[in-house]
Amino acid sequence: MSLVPNNYRNVLSAVRQVSEKCGRNADEVKLLVVSKTMPTELLQELYDECNVREFAENRVPELSGKVAALPKDIKWHFIGPIQSNKIRKIVQNAQFIHSVSAVDQISRLDRIAGEEGKTPEFLLEVNVSGEASKGGLRPDELPEAAAEAVKCTSAVWKGLMTMAPIDADDDFLNEIFSTLAGLKQDCEKRFNIELPELSMGMSGDFPVAIACGASIVRVGTRIFEGAV
Ligand SMILES: *Cc1c(COP(=O)(O)O)cnc(C)c1O
Repeated sequence: MSLVPNNYRNVLSAVRQVSEKCGRNADEVKLLVVSKTMPTELLQELYDECNVREFAENRVPELSGKVAALPKDIKWHFIGPIQSNKIRKIVQNAQFIHSVSAVDQISRLDRIAGEEGKTPEFLLEVNVSGEASKGGLRPDELPEAAAEAVKCTSAVWKGLMTMAPIDADDDFLNEIFSTLAGLKQDCEKRFNIELPELSMGMSGDFPVAIACGASIVRVGTRIFEGAV
C-alpha cells in the first residue's frame, strides 16, 4: 500500500480538528480529494481503504478517462477552467462543477444538462483576489451571474468557489475567504434562497478557509505527497 491512505486520514483528522476548534460540527466540512494528474491506482486505493467516493479533476480528458476506469458509484467534481465546447463532456462525467466562471456559461450549462437528462450541481467561481492569472467572475459580475444561475431548471446552483493566491499570508487569506462568505450571504438575501456550499481552501490554506465558513476544502498535494 502507498502512503496515500495514511496521508488522507491525517488530513481528514486535521480538517475535523480545525472544524471543531472553530465551533463547527466535525462533519460539516467536506474534504474533497483533488486527484488531478494522479494514477487511477491511487484513487482506487482511497476508494478501497478509506471509503472515498468523491474525487475532483481539472481537465476534461483526464476526467472522462478516470470515470471510465473506476467504479460507477463515484461522484466526480470538476474544478478546472471551462471551455464552452467542453461543457457537454463535463456534464456527461461530473455531478458537481465548481468552476463556472462566465455569465454565458450558465444558460449553456443548463441547456446541455437538460438535453443530457442530468441535474449537475454547480458553483460560481469568483476571483476575489483579482489576480490576473486566476479564473473566475469579478465580484462586480456576480449579481448578473447569480440572476442567471437562479433561472436554471436542470443545473442546480449550490454556492460559490474561490482560489486564494499561493503566497497570501493569513491576514490576506482571511480577507479573501471572508469576502467570499459575504458574497454568498448577499446572494442569499437578494434572491431569497439558501446556498449551502462555499468551496474554498486547499493544502496550504484550508484551516483559514474552514474558520471563514468553507463547506468544501479541495486538497491534493497533502494527500498524494510522497506517493508518486
Ligand atoms: C489543484 C487544485 C486544488 C488542490 O490544490 P493542492 O494545493 O494540491 O491541495 C484545489 N483546487 C483547484 C481548483 C485546483 O486546481
